[in-house]
Amino acid sequence: MTSECSPSASWTALPLADLHRHLDGSLRPDTVAALAAARGLEVPSDLPFAPGMGLEAALARFAFTLSLLQEPDAVRRVAAEMCEDAAAEGVTTLEIRFAPQLHGGAPMEAILDAALEGADGRAGLTLCGLYGEPPETLRRLAELGGSREGVVGLDLAGGPTPGHHWRMDDYAPAFRRAAELGLGRTVHAGEGRPPAEIKQAILQLGARRVGHGTTLLQDPELVDLIIERGVTIEACATSNWHVGAIPAVEAHPIPRWVALGVPVCVCTDNTLLSAVDAPTEHARIAAIPGMDEAAMRAVIAQGHAAAFGR
Ligand SMILES: [Zn+2]
Repeated sequence: MTSECSPSASWTALPLADLHRHLDGSLRPDTVAALAAARGLEVPSDLPFAPGMGLEAALARFAFTLSLLQEPDAVRRVAAEMCEDAAAEGVTTLEIRFAPQLHGGAPMEAILDAALEGADGRAGLTLCGLYGEPPETLRRLAELGGSREGVVGLDLAGGPTPGHHWRMDDYAPAFRRAAELGLGRTVHAGEGRPPAEIKQAILQLGARRVGHGTTLLQDPELVDLIIERGVTIEACATSNWHVGAIPAVEAHPIPRWVALGVPVCVCTDNTLLSAVDAPTEHARIAAIPGMDEAAMRAVIAQGHAAAFGR
C-alpha cells in the first residue's frame, strides 16, 4: 500500500476533484496577456475579484475575458490549459463549464467542439445558460449538450435581477429535456440570496447539484430535502468571499454542512479571477474551525462521487 492510499495519510495526499470551474474565469494570466496583445487590448488592472465586491461587479469582470474568447482557437487553447493546470494541481476529476452562446465568433456548435477538442476527454463539460436568458436558449443548450459526447451537464449561471423577465420555473422544460438526454443538472442558487432559490432549483429544475448555496442553513426543511435527495453543494468559499456572499472564508458554513450530513464538495469557481487553485481552496477550507481530517476526506470523496457522467 502506498502512502497515497493509506488511511493514515493526510487528506493533502489525496487526488482532488473540481466540479465547478468556469472557462471564462480560469484562463492563465500569461494567456490573458497573449490573447489581449493579439487583439490590441490592454488588460484591465482591476480584472481580479476583490473581497466584498458584490456579485454584479464580479459578473461584469467576465466581459473582458469573454472578449478574448470569441474564437474557437482561443476556446480550444484555454480548455486545454485548464486541463493541464488542473492535472498539475492534483485534480483527477474535473468539470469545466461555460456558455457557448456568449462566444459569438463562431456558431455555438463550433465553439463547443473547440472546447471539447481542448479538453480531449480530460474533463467533462457543462453548458451554462444564464439567469435572464430566454428559456429557448437553455433548451438549445440541452439539445446541443445531448448531441455531444463529453458534455455532462446543464447549468443555470449568473444571478437573477429584478429586471429579468424569465423566472426559474420558466427553465423547467429545458432542465427536464437535459434529464431526458442523460445530462446532469446544476444551478447557481442561494449565492447570498434567500434559500427559497435553492429549493426552487431542486424542485423545479431537478438540480442534482447546487452551486454555492451559502444560505442553505436558513431553512432547516431545505437541509432535510437536500440530504434526502442527495443533492451536492458545490462550495466555492473564496469566490463567495469575493462576491460578498460570506464575510470571510472562515465564515463559510461548510463545517456545519458536513456535520449535518449535507453532501458537499470544494470547488474553485474561477482560478484566474479569484487567484486560486484547487490545493489552495482546499487548504483554506481545511483551516476553517470544525473542518478536521475526516471532514476533509468526506468533501474530497464527494467531489469525485458527484461528478456528472453519461
Ligand atoms: Zn460559478
